[in-house]
Amino acid sequence: MADDKTQVIDETKGKDVKAGALLCPVCCVEYVEVAFDFKVNGVVLHDVAALRCPKCGEEVFSPQQQQEIRKKSAITFI
Ligand SMILES: [Zn+2]
Repeated sequence: MADDKTQVIDETKGKDVKAGALLCPVCCVEYVEVAFDFKVNGVVLHDVAALRCPKCGEEVFSPQQQQEIRKKSAITFI
């Protein structure tokens, strides 16, 4: 009958849900994701993702990124 009133409301729009967003404990500012060359155990890993505080420049690795580094370095060592 009047079933053609299909209304799609995108409720997810505008909600910037960032799972696992980390804050700099010093500045209370959300880290931004950056990528750079990272040297580990004498091996340079290219394009390593990390988080950097836009205010103080502190760089950290999220657990996910640490895992990524481990994976990349393992490949490098083969
Ligand atoms: Zn900071």
